[in-house]
Amino acid sequence: MTPQEILDQFGPREAMEYDVVVVGAGPAGLATAIRLKQLDANLSVVVLEKGSEPGAHILSGAVMDPRALAELFPDWKERGAPLNQPVTGDEVLILTEQRASATPQALIPPCMHNDGCYVISLGAVTKWLGEQAEALGVEIFPGFAAAELL
Ligand SMILES: Cc1cc2nc3c(=O)[nH]c(=O)nc-3n(C[C@H](O)[C@H](O)[C@H](O)COP(=O)(O)OP(=O)(O)OC[C@H]3O[C@@H](n4cnc5c(N)ncnc54)[C@H](O)[C@@H]3O)c2cc1C
Repeated sequence: MTPQEILDQFGPREAMEYDVVVVGAGPAGLATAIRLKQLDANLSVVVLEKGSEPGAHILSGAVMDPRALAELFPDWKERGAPLNQPVTGDEVLILTEQRASATPQALIPPCMHNDGCYVISLGAVTKWLGEQAEALGVEIFPGFAAAELL
């Protein structure tokens, strides 16, 4: 149905005005909403999320580099961000039917090292980001799938 057909059939719908509408309460959408509020607390920002809450539709389990988080919240540790398990070692295994052989560390390229990263639940980190966003005044509407650009 086009917006005009909806209007013709059901009459004018309730509308809410916002300065910024972010679609998707994933890490990117929430970071955007948070940064906007940090830059200008007077902006009205809403995040639409089709899942039941921020993090509900996020594939969990990840190795996370906290650099971007530290730019957003330099005090993320004090704020209780759920980054609890630092990476303690990296291994690259060559698997055959019978055995697994570890590649010598000297042969593992730097991009495959995860020093300084954390093993996280991305769902939990996203939920936490949602709480931080709301504390800054971002409105989050879970259970709303954005369907069309009006
Ligand atoms: C198998 C796998 C393993 C990964 N492992 C790692 C890893 O180890 N380390 C790492 O850093 N990254 C990893 N990633 C990548 C990481 O998950 C993504 O980079 C990150 O989730 C992207 O965040 P995003 O906010 O852009 O998108 P998403 O996380 O996809 O979030 C998008 C959000 O938008 C919502 N949404 C979508 N459409 C609509 C709509 N129309 N209306 C309302 N809401 C909507 C979704 O429900 C979701 O909550 C992995 C990804 C995969 C798939």
